[in-house]
Amino acid sequence: LFKNVLVPYDESEHAVSALHVALGMVGDDAEAQVHVVTVVSIGAIPGPSIDSDSFGDPLSSTTPLEYDSVMGALLHRVRADMEGMINDAKDGASCKIVSTAIIAGSPVEGIAEYVTNHDIDLVVMGRRGLGALRGMLGSVSFGVLRSVDVPVLTVK
Ligand code: ATP
Ligand code: MG
Ligand code: MG
Repeated sequence: LFKNVLVPYDESEHAVSALHVALGMVGDDAEAQVHVVTVVSIGAIPGPSIDSDSFGDPLSSTTPLEYDSVMGALLHRVRADMEGMINDAKDGASCKIVSTAIIAGSPVEGIAEYVTNHDIDLVVMGRRGLGALRGMLGSVSFGVLRSVDVPVLTVK
């Protein structure tokens, strides 16, 4: 039924649950793709946007960290976390999993743009994320529900 399922991932256990639900829904549909996307918010930091695949190994640099290497190190860590988490969750799933770390001004905008640009037909995300506040729905989940036209499934 759903061919391009997006799981917005923020390193929270809720987002990990969302990935498990997404993989379960896709089942053994080998044509389906599950996209795992983390938006790195750097709206407050001026500077060029960085292609997440184009940086080297900034952690081994002996020169003082500059904007590019700070962002490079951040993206490097985010991608390493995503890949580890995906490998744990995948466990025999036959669908294709695409993972990306993207830079954007805000998670909601980044997720909404990804939905449009990649023909996403379902979003599965956590009800809450890393935020410590109690409540029914986090601000990113709320914003995505408001911004996208495809079904959104929120997971506890
Ligand atoms: P808040 O951020 O409003 O304080 P919260 O952290 O509990 O509260 P959200 O940030 O809305 O709640 O997180 C809900 C879900 O949104 C997460 O489980 C995850 O699926 C997704 N999400 C949150 N932040 C990001 C992000 N930066 N990139 C990708 N997905 C995200
Ligand atoms: Mg949050
Ligand atoms: Mg927040």
